[in-house]
Amino acid sequence: MSSNFVDSQGSTLVVALAELEGHLSEVLKEVRRLRALARALEEENQRLRTIMFAAQAGEGGYQQLLRFYEEGFHVCPPHFARVRDGDGCLFCQSFLEKKGLQSHG
Ligand SMILES: [Zn+2]
Repeated sequence: MSSNFVDSQGSTLVVALAELEGHLSEVLKEVRRLRALARALEEENQRLRTIMFAAQAGEGGYQQLLRFYEEGFHVCPPHFARVRDGDGCLFCQSFLEKKGLQSHG
């Protein structure tokens, strides 16, 4: 009786440990995923900053915006600097068109 009790407690512990290990590996996987995401965001942030600084520098603002748009970001005021999901954006296109006309006089 008492040895049965110990056995069942022991196997409960083994199961609990196995579950804990499973959770830990899930958590570690999540940590790795978040770390990769953080790195990607940092890189994107850096890229955006570079482009924004270049655009603010004045000269060639239209070209910078166009490049920014072609890199896959919105340049239109309602969605500025958001990722475009690969689709063309009518707001961006008309915004760029206006800017283009201005920059050519
Ligand atoms: Zn847009």
